[in-house]
Amino acid sequence: MQKFPEWVTEYIAEWKRRLYLQEWEIATVLSAHPNGDGSRETNACVELHLDVLQATLEIRDDIPASLDGVDPDTARDWKKIIVHELLHIRVARMITILTTDILPELAPQANSLTHRWLEHEEELLVQIMAQALIDLTEDG
Ligand SMILES: [Zn+2]
Repeated sequence: MQKFPEWVTEYIAEWKRRLYLQEWEIATVLSAHPNGDGSRETNACVELHLDVLQATLEIRDDIPASLDGVDPDTARDWKKIIVHELLHIRVARMITILTTDILPELAPQANSLTHRWLEHEEELLVQIMAQALIDLTEDG
């Protein structure tokens, strides 16, 4: 089994601190098919257990073992993927409270529509923030 890249462990630790995620226990695993969807499209995904503040970050196994000699754009893309998943953890409490406590108070159709809208907005927010944060911290 492929060894988990040390730079990724260090990078996650650095961003846990930056995003105030220290209370979370984040396990990391390499996978041929993150999300279990059988495709190589998904770069990474995160499974959350908010009640115990535990998350498993699954990263596709073609992430470079080291950044030495890696094309800067490729390195930057992988860093953005990691920050993206950590941002999902950052907003998990807000999203979970909304979807489990607040949305069910709505009529079923409104609940379902709002749920989809919220998922879309979360993804957009996380994408934009990951890009902005990587841009701001570049050299990465
Ligand atoms: Zn996402």
